Amino acid sequence: MKKQAIMNILKENKLKLTNQRKAIITILQNNENKFMSCEEIYDEISKKDNKLNLSTVYRTLESFYTVDILHKKTTDGKSFYKLMCLDHHHHHLICRVCKKTIPFDYCPMDELSKVAKQYHFTIESHQIEVYGVCSNCSHFNLPKR
Ligand SMILES: [Zn+2]
Ligand SMILES: [Zn+2]
Ligand SMILES: [Zn+2]
Repeated sequence: MKKQAIMNILKENKLKLTNQRKAIITILQNNENKFMSCEEIYDEISKKDNKLNLSTVYRTLESFYTVDILHKKTTDGKSFYKLMCLDHHHHHLICRVCKKTIPFDYCPMDELSKVAKQYHFTIESHQIEVYGVCSNCSHFNLPKR
C-alpha cells in the first residue's frame, strides 16, 4: 500500500498523522512483507524513540486495523499485523521460515460457502492464510516442524 493511500485513509477517518502514528507506519513500511506482533513493532520503535509505550502502540495498531490499513491475523491468541498489500480482497501464502507473505487474488469462499450451506451454516467472515516454505527458503531444505 502506497504512503499516499494510507494518508488518505487516515484523513477520511479523521485520524491525525501524529509523530507516533508516523513512526508506527514507518516501521510497518520497512517490514511490508511480514506479519509483526505489537511487541516487535514496539521494540523497533524503542530503538529510535522511547516515548511510546506498548499500550499506545497496541491502540494505534487496532485503530489502523479498523480503518483497513492493516491486515491482522491471530495465532495462539496473539495478534500480528502488517500493512495491507493490495487494496482489494486477497489472501496470503506465508513462509514459515522467513515469514515473508505473498499476496494472491484467489479466494476459495465460493466453494466454501457451498460446503457451509450443507450444514445450514451462515458464514460471517473468513481468515485464510496458507503456510509453507517460499522458493528462497526451500533451498535450505529445513526439516519440517
Ligand atoms: Zn495482504
Ligand atoms: Zn521464506
Ligand atoms: Zn477471501
